[in-house]
Amino acid sequence: MEDHCGMVYNSMFITTMSLFALIFIFLFTQSLATSNNANENFIRCLLNSTELTSPIAGAIYTPANSTFPAVLQAYIRNLRFNESTTPKPAIIITALDLSHVQASIKCAKKHKLLMKTRSGGHDYEGLSYVADQPFFILDLFNFRSINVSIEEETAWVQAGATLGELFYRINEKSSTHGFPAGVCPTVGVGGHFSGGGYGNMMRKYGLSVDNIIDAELVDVNGKLLNRESMGEDLFWAITGGGGVSFGVVISYKINLVRVPDKVTVFQVRRISEQNVTGVAHRWLQVADKLDNDLFIRMVFDVVNNTNGEKTIRASFPSLYLGNTTNLINIMDQSFPELGLQRSDCQEMNWTQSILWYYSFPPGSPDTTLLSRIPRTLTHLKRKSDYVKNPISKQGLRLIFRKMIELQLPVLTFNPYGGRMAEISEFAKPFPHRAGNIAKIQYAADWSGDGVDLANRNVNLTRVLHEFMTPFVSKFPREAFLNYRDLDIGVTDNGKNSYLQGMVYGVKYFKETNFRRLVKVKTMVDPDNFFRNEQSIPTLPSWRKIRDEVVWIVVVILCLPHLVTITFTDCIGDDHLHMRLSIENIFLTAGRRLELRRGGGEGMGRRWEDPMQSLEVGGELECFGGKEMEEIASK
Ligand SMILES: Cc1cc2nc3c(=O)[nH]c(=O)nc-3n(C[C@H](O)[C@H](O)[C@H](O)COP(=O)(O)OP(=O)(O)OC[C@H]3O[C@@H](n4cnc5c(N)ncnc54)[C@H](O)[C@@H]3O)c2cc1C
Repeated sequence: MEDHCGMVYNSMFITTMSLFALIFIFLFTQSLATSNNANENFIRCLLNSTELTSPIAGAIYTPANSTFPAVLQAYIRNLRFNESTTPKPAIIITALDLSHVQASIKCAKKHKLLMKTRSGGHDYEGLSYVADQPFFILDLFNFRSINVSIEEETAWVQAGATLGELFYRINEKSSTHGFPAGVCPTVGVGGHFSGGGYGNMMRKYGLSVDNIIDAELVDVNGKLLNRESMGEDLFWAITGGGGVSFGVVISYKINLVRVPDKVTVFQVRRISEQNVTGVAHRWLQVADKLDNDLFIRMVFDVVNNTNGEKTIRASFPSLYLGNTTNLINIMDQSFPELGLQRSDCQEMNWTQSILWYYSFPPGSPDTTLLSRIPRTLTHLKRKSDYVKNPISKQGLRLIFRKMIELQLPVLTFNPYGGRMAEISEFAKPFPHRAGNIAKIQYAADWSGDGVDLANRNVNLTRVLHEFMTPFVSKFPREAFLNYRDLDIGVTDNGKNSYLQGMVYGVKYFKETNFRRLVKVKTMVDPDNFFRNEQSIPTLPSWRKIRDEVVWIVVVILCLPHLVTITFTDCIGDDHLHMRLSIENIFLTAGRRLELRRGGGEGMGRRWEDPMQSLEVGGELECFGGKEMEEIASK
């Protein structure tokens, strides 16, 4: 009986399972057919696009092409996302000219395909070539032209160019010009610049985005815009807010900076026996206050000491924009604890210093910068933090103990201060300016495939990050966009995307900048075509209605109070004159008041609580902290 019942049960179970299996296979094949159809329609749309100025067929790759894996892998810079289980794109478009970019956007919009834009492929979370839903890659590696004008001290550089190519092309024309950007030569301009871009000249010249003066962007309608036609808000957004949420960046125009004929580099290493704690403690006191020409990085990793025991090593790879004699003077006065000797220093030209800084063998020719093949590729995970207060010696000892326990993660401290502290946190979406001693990078690198190994190593960075909580920024715990980290929040781009976006957005941009980015996004891409796991969301409709109601109320309240305000600029001596027009009132209702200099240069200062400015006779305070006079009269 039991057997019989069991058999009935079993056969019912099998029938039910078969039914489920059939339904699953049916649904799966249906969805496969649908996505295949979408892909075919998309390709047909591309081929038939009337706007093409050159044939696109040669730029389209599907898995049916034997070269598809090679094209995909050519710009995968994190092997964690090069596994057989990593989701692959259905199509790759290696755009050869502008019309290919425009057609890709238009056809993807029409056929509702998710687009991932890739320039150099260095996104730490692989967001330019991985997605958890069907997608295609718009690959810009062919957009690599660089036009340098030494007369103007500017350059136009396309998104698919690498930093190494940019440095090389500048140096080809002038040995006394350079550009502040990362020192890894294979990083792509498209992602690097649009996410901020920092390097070892940051204390002297700020970020890459602080030196960008124009841009070309293809918008959601396939239109090519420049700074003038896109307007200041969108230009602001794509210089630090991540271009990917707003369009496809084709190129940037940059201001070159001056570098001396000879710069000095040094690398000093200390291990525990040599008082790592004392030196590190002192670094945290002085690194952001040193001469702006000096950038001393501090790196902690775990090594074996002479007894074969695990210990902390602190390394200080550094760049000084001047000669050794001046450097030694500065170090003797400001940081003698490091014990820098003249024999530790090497003078070289700026281009050679990039190769040195990125650990290329001595004597590597400048043309090494042109190679698009990274020297090493690993599986990796990165995270970031900001240090606002010096860490005590006791704190450092605890951190070292934890690092020795975890072994793998490396901590790199990049000093701030200098020019970084002079630029307003609202000037660009990147907000981490005055008040920061250093940015920390958490790095875990390993070789070997597999999800288990990856999870284990990724988790080590999370444990260390958690451990560092008392020593780093709070409310928000800030993070650097270019050190992409999906642990700090993601969006599914659904109905909660605004709140989801706020979680990571406030960490990357702080609240005021995040809100401004959301406004720009809502204006330029209301249907959220340009999206990824951490893109800028659009304003949800409840917020739009609320803001409109606030605007109307403010207009009603403020219309009778049109005022003329004269006040002194916080930084220069210029006197700014502004009439609070209805338009200005609208801006204030958006909780942001932008004051433009006469002459329409587009420079401005912003006040967090601009409603103050409506108070006749009230006082305004600069973000720089200085007070400014305001005389307001009706
Ligand atoms: C080895 C290494 C060293 C690094 N060193 C530094 C450093 O010194 N300083 C620093 O600031 N950062 C550094 N980074 C981080 C790097 O700047 C970012 O990962 C940057 O986004 C990479 O740009 P990419 O074009 O190479 O990457 P991609 O992966 O191609 O792009 C990164 C992001 O930008 C988007 N994007 C790419 N191109 C465009 C475009 N044309 N228009 C719109 N959106 C686009 C992508 O969709 C993606 O979301 C480093 C990364 C690596 C792997």
